[in-house]
Amino acid sequence: MGFLLPAETVDSIHEIDYERLRAQGIRALLFDLDNTLGPRRAHRLRPEVYALLERLEADGFRVGVLSNRRRLGGAVIDELCNRFALLQAAGKPGRVGFLVLLAELEVAPGEAAMIGDRYLTDVIGANRLGMHAIRVRRHGHASR
Ligand SMILES: [Mg+2]
Repeated sequence: MGFLLPAETVDSIHEIDYERLRAQGIRALLFDLDNTLGPRRAHRLRPEVYALLERLEADGFRVGVLSNRRRLGGAVIDELCNRFALLQAAGKPGRVGFLVLLAELEVAPGEAAMIGDRYLTDVIGANRLGMHAIRVRRHGHASR
């Protein structure tokens, strides 16, 4: 059951103490897409989301997006793909997707945080690899 529990839970990606993560040795940040960076199947993300990810990169973090979304293309995907490391159809909680993106970002699992809304994909997958799991609450939705 311990693998189900995130290291921390926040209301949004904007409330994470990224400087504390850095002090803990976290060098890379992997973000889930749906219900984490934006609403499920969003066609666009808010400008402040891109601004946050770009600021984190400017501050020295490696930033990636790890999504189980299967459909290729779309405005959000194109924009994320142009700006950040992105892996779709990641197969979370399976290990392979995490490891592929971590390799692209050139960090070990223990140096990375996974930030996502779902226990059964984001949290478990990250915990099994020894990543720092941060769960984002989805407003108005039951957890799953
Ligand atoms: Mg999600």
